[in-house]
Amino acid sequence: MSPNAESTAFRSALEVIRAVEPRVADAIGAELADQRESLKLIASENYASPATLLAMGNWFSDKYAEGTIGRRFYAGCQNVDTVEALAAEHARELFGASHAYVQPHSGIDANLVAFWAILADRVESPALKKAQVRQVNDLTEADWFALRRELGDQRMLGMSLDAGGHLTHGFRPNISGKMFDQRSYGTDPATGLIDYDRVAEAAREFKPLILVAGYSAYPRKVNFRIMREIADSVGATFMVDMAHFAGLVAGKVFTGDFDPVPHAHIVTTTTHKSLRGPRGGMVLCGPELADQVDRGCPMVLGGPLPHVMAAKAVALAEARRPDFADYARRIVDNAQALAEGLTRRGAKLVTGGTDNHLVLIDVSGYGLTGRQAEQALLDSGIVTNRNAVPQDPNGAWYTSGIRIGTPALTTRGLGTAEMDATAELIHTVLSQTTSGESKAKYVLDPALADKVSRQATDLLGNFPLYPGVDLG
Ligand code: PLP
Repeated sequence: MSPNAESTAFRSALEVIRAVEPRVADAIGAELADQRESLKLIASENYASPATLLAMGNWFSDKYAEGTIGRRFYAGCQNVDTVEALAAEHARELFGASHAYVQPHSGIDANLVAFWAILADRVESPALKKAQVRQVNDLTEADWFALRRELGDQRMLGMSLDAGGHLTHGFRPNISGKMFDQRSYGTDPATGLIDYDRVAEAAREFKPLILVAGYSAYPRKVNFRIMREIADSVGATFMVDMAHFAGLVAGKVFTGDFDPVPHAHIVTTTTHKSLRGPRGGMVLCGPELADQVDRGCPMVLGGPLPHVMAAKAVALAEARRPDFADYARRIVDNAQALAEGLTRRGAKLVTGGTDNHLVLIDVSGYGLTGRQAEQALLDSGIVTNRNAVPQDPNGAWYTSGIRIGTPALTTRGLGTAEMDATAELIHTVLSQTTSGESKAKYVLDPALADKVSRQATDLLGNFPLYPGVDLG
């Protein structure tokens, strides 16, 4: 690759866009400038490679490709077949899965595909067999009515929101909560860890069709072997949503009992968090569920996004390189250094530390709500998000926690020394902020916020973001 290839590619693209709507070109340039300047600690974000970004901006965007590889409802999909097959092959090889479905547009969509594949396999197929028909259109009105009732009367057991579970795991504001009768398992109040005996007890009592593991704010490993045993003991399908930690699975940081792929019946993920690909989702499964999973579009998904599947193929190829394993290891080293630096300075962490990519600070230790802490950090150039902690007295809006994660800063090249410096900046801001007259108001000396902001920018100075991209 020529030394200026990345700059030339992005400059040319912006020139072409600017000729039509300059404000969009300006916003794209401004976004890069903002990302370069901020200390990004959002646990679910990352920086995709230039190759991944460029794979999305092309003619694949124009193509309809409902169906699956080699079996489309539209003509002329041979090149889409090529990129979808490549993405699926890279995913299978990377995760050691027998089947990969790379069409989901996001993590929520991947979960919907998985839920409906399980419902089709475990509820719809037996009903069709019983009625001795091949497809739902052949059912009598009475049998169809009964099947719809039965589909809507299934149970799901997943991790509670305040313990770190995700809204799509059966919570009422999400479609999954309207589809399923849901119960959740929490964590041990003393340790903050999953208590597998309690999960087993809840499964025995509730008898769910689906047991879900996976989280967006739990800072520890999950033993998927034990979870599978629990699922098997009650005849549940075991589903893992590895959206947050897929990069750690890909990079072989999570192996054995902690790798969900050999243990789960079905695994879903996003592709844009620790996996560092384009925004999107993916489903992995064995042969038993493969046909149902492949019906994701048009069952619950709109037409596939071939340009994003092209980018998934590129990002997954990157994740198969040996240096990705090193990246994944450094994500965890950095999270542990950050946790250690915060603890040493007196911060209270949920579970006392981390063994993945994220750290959850209980900011009640600083006398703040999550919302106050999030805003004070933002004023100081540190981008995080507030998050509930277990048994959170401040609820899901104000919260008592701040979730921080290291995938993005690790991509930028920051290491454990910089994590200690980051811990110092976070602790300085939080310990100097005082609670205001409401759960959203706070008092922070603007001069201190400015000073920390400058220190954050200095810290990033040695780690340029997209060093090969100069927009001029
Ligand atoms: N599952 C988990 C565990 C997540 O953390 C998220 C996003 O935060 C999702 C699913 C949803 O992903 P998306 O925003 O791509 O729909």
